[in-house]
Amino acid sequence: MRIDILTIFPEMFPGILDVGMLRIAQEKGLVDFRLHDFRDFAKGLHRNVDDRPFGGGPGMVLKPEPIYECLESFIPRDGPQPTMIALTPQGERYNQNMAQELAQQDWLVLLAGRYEGFDQRIIDGLRLREISIGDYVLTGGELPALVLVDSIVRLRPGVLGDADSATEESFSFGLLDHPHYTRPVEFRGMQVPEVLRSGDHARIARWRREQAEATTRRNRPDLLPPGEGGERRDD
Ligand code: SAM
Repeated sequence: MRIDILTIFPEMFPGILDVGMLRIAQEKGLVDFRLHDFRDFAKGLHRNVDDRPFGGGPGMVLKPEPIYECLESFIPRDGPQPTMIALTPQGERYNQNMAQELAQQDWLVLLAGRYEGFDQRIIDGLRLREISIGDYVLTGGELPALVLVDSIVRLRPGVLGDADSATEESFSFGLLDHPHYTRPVEFRGMQVPEVLRSGDHARIARWRREQAEATTRRNRPDLLPPGEGGERRDD
């Protein structure tokens, strides 16, 4: 899988891309990250990538020319085209299903905004899919781009040591994860539940399911179907 990231702060990425699973995925040749500073494509003495908004108002808006030219520098006119995503607070809200869908793609391009965001002709003209990582506003799209990268790359075959890790975790089967315990059996007066030490796999599976349902009902009832503690949903 190839992932290109457009940003004016490429220096924000190496610390995260070059550790843990993301580093291992690169070393195994399972992912190829390419960072592009679109300021390199800005014209003029100051290489401005932003300008004042038409219609007035605060802040600055990302100009279309440097971003179009940056994309044209590495995406061939003919041949396979990447799935292109702009990180914006106005986008569809990101979730695990979207991560799974994007993990099927061979080539992604992620655009990280800054200031007040993108000139709308960047979104419309390039037919970008807009994705938000949640209902809050960050200073830039770099952290959202890294959130997508991390959640997508770990789902690619061969990245996680134990493939079951990605199928038995929160959101993958409609519930939050169950509690986990490791050694020691007793820690500061707190015990590992007896059932987990029983060796009875059916009982353990039942306990984990009950715990997952209880946690979901308590913290995220919106994930449950109507009638099982979930809100009525029309979608
Ligand atoms: N004017 C925008 C608004 O009110 O929605 C906020 C722009 S924000 C300060 C600058 C950039 O950060 C955005 O262009 C986007 O790339 C990124 N960003 C901020 N919050 C985000 C979020 N929740 N999800 C994805 N990207 C976000």
